[in-house]
Amino acid sequence: MAYRIICEECIKCGSCESECPSEAIKEAEECYIIDPELCTDCGCCAEVCPQECIKAPWKKEQQL
Ligand code: SF4
Ligand code: SF4
Repeated sequence: MAYRIICEECIKCGSCESECPSEAIKEAEECYIIDPELCTDCGCCAEVCPQECIKAPWKKEQQL
């Protein structure tokens, strides 16, 4: 599935990038983004995001 970052809410703090064991998170122009091919759904990034803007879209309460 892959986690998703809500771009409008990301403040580009970079916390998620260093937390990802799969190196799936990279800085992009507007915000940080997750490569769905690399994401293993571990959820580590979502736990450290101060904006709580990293979501698991397949979870009902987190739908975008
Ligand atoms: S859920 Fe895990 S593998 Fe996917 S982007 Fe976040 S930290 Fe990386
Ligand atoms: S931790 Fe959250 S706010 Fe910080 S760069 Fe990642 S997605 Fe953006």
